Amino acid sequence: MAKKLLIIGGGGAGLSAGIYGQMNGYDTEIFEMHTIPGGVCTAWKRGDYIFDGCIHWLVGSKPGNDFHTIWKELGAIKEKKIYDHEQFVQLHIGGKTVHFYTDIDRFEKHLLELAPEDEREIQRLAKSIRKLTRLEMAVLKPTALFTVAEWVRYGIKMFPFLGEMMRLLSTPMTDFARRFKNPTLRTAFSTIFPIDGFALGFFAITMAWMHNKTAGVPEGGSLPFALNLKKRYESLGGTIHLGKKVAGITVENGVAVGIELSDGTTHRGDIVISAADGHSTLFNLLEGKYLTKKLKRYYADPILFPATLQISLGIRRDLRADPHTVARVLDQPIIIGGLPQPAVTVQNYSFDPSFAPAGKSVIVCYLFTDYDHWEKLYTADRPAYEKEKVKAADDLIALLERWYPGIGGEVEVRDVATPMTYVRYTANWRGAWEGWAPTVKTFKWKIPTELPGLRNFHMIGQWTTPGGGLPPAAMQGRSLIQILCARDGKPFTTTEA
Ligand SMILES: Cc1cc2nc3c(=O)[nH]c(=O)nc-3n(C[C@H](O)[C@H](O)[C@H](O)COP(=O)(O)OP(=O)(O)OC[C@H]3O[C@@H](n4cnc5c(N)ncnc54)[C@H](O)[C@@H]3O)c2cc1C
Repeated sequence: MAKKLLIIGGGGAGLSAGIYGQMNGYDTEIFEMHTIPGGVCTAWKRGDYIFDGCIHWLVGSKPGNDFHTIWKELGAIKEKKIYDHEQFVQLHIGGKTVHFYTDIDRFEKHLLELAPEDEREIQRLAKSIRKLTRLEMAVLKPTALFTVAEWVRYGIKMFPFLGEMMRLLSTPMTDFARRFKNPTLRTAFSTIFPIDGFALGFFAITMAWMHNKTAGVPEGGSLPFALNLKKRYESLGGTIHLGKKVAGITVENGVAVGIELSDGTTHRGDIVISAADGHSTLFNLLEGKYLTKKLKRYYADPILFPATLQISLGIRRDLRADPHTVARVLDQPIIIGGLPQPAVTVQNYSFDPSFAPAGKSVIVCYLFTDYDHWEKLYTADRPAYEKEKVKAADDLIALLERWYPGIGGEVEVRDVATPMTYVRYTANWRGAWEGWAPTVKTFKWKIPTELPGLRNFHMIGQWTTPGGGLPPAAMQGRSLIQILCARDGKPFTTTEA
């Protein structure tokens, strides 16, 4: 009889594990607390507008990249048009504009024109990004299953990149920014990823993928992407239970044997996989009983992806001629959502007609915010919480008037997602929608996916890979099934959708 896999969480990681599990003869069931699949990879409809909550770039959007193979197997972007952006972001600082062109030659030329005095640093950055365009990481086979010969081949392939990668991943973006003599570039590089300790390597590799045109946005955005995964899973015979929250993992004699749902029902299986939030898995579902020293340290002194407000506006204005992402550094930080905002980034979704009716547009702003502020309001004073959301949108719209005069009168629909929205719908701890932040410290973390004293239990998903992202989530689901197949002594097989 086929082994039964119980999967907690129907986000990218859980659906991927389910799909590859079904392809390989396991009997899988996914339990998802929300009424739709996808986890943080989602979108919501308000009036005639769709507000997307996730994909800005999808690594593997183009054939020739191993992640593309995974998307094909998962049926995620089948027959979808891919939008590749000309610029990663267009950044306005004082009277200057820095274009982060995704074409590296163009980006380098532009920076050299802006800041000839920084020639050495600019050329060094461009050289690093160019080098990373040739990097091919192990994606289709987990290194845990490598034979000696495969390790040798992989070592030879990776050797030319190791020094560069270590240097880039150990350099905080803010330190890198300080190397520039030109004040505009110094501000630009410290602004684009304003996360404490954000590693230069994550920026460089993203630029390399964009240069290769393998980090585009699939037509229709995040929700169709997630629904495609569900469709693929069900077409392979998998069962997803929506609106079913897991309240506990049943352990007998050190073996995970099942799960208990919040409605009191229980399910038994051979393997339990948690693709849910790391904190709730370890501290609630497993009651903090199976923590390693490292896990205790990571969760006691967390380096989380910052909590944000997503303010989405449906506006009666055609913004097709505008760039898709424009950031502006403010002369004076302005307080929105309880925190001073030194810059404001406007994402314009007009590149894809799926999001707004003809002649209208969706714009979205993400603003870092204070998680505790929103949690306190949400739990202690719901009317004040709702009022604070309205105020945040009002404050943002007032600010946007500076660059889009008259916009206030053109807003037809508005929506504010707070860190509590992420907690409510996806349980991501403290609203950290990508889990751990991608920093110079977290890239060195080794987060265990199996726990001491607990057999037949695995963790996958963004809480086991710092920096998050759909590709690692999907890859982890695939890798885990490869490992289970290897342990069960059977070949791992895949099909394309
Ligand atoms: C605004 C935003 C922008 C992003 N941009 C990009 C991008 O451009 N490119 C990219 O690759 N990635 C991006 N990401 C990140 C990417 O979406 C995530 O890293 C990835 O989707 C995480 O997948 P996951 O399955 O690990 O986690 P999640 O999506 O969090 O899935 C976990 C699932 O578990 C469920 N769950 C939790 N607890 C329980 C329980 N007790 N019982 C049952 N179910 C439970 C949750 O409801 C959720 O569905 C972005 C994310 C956001 C929010």
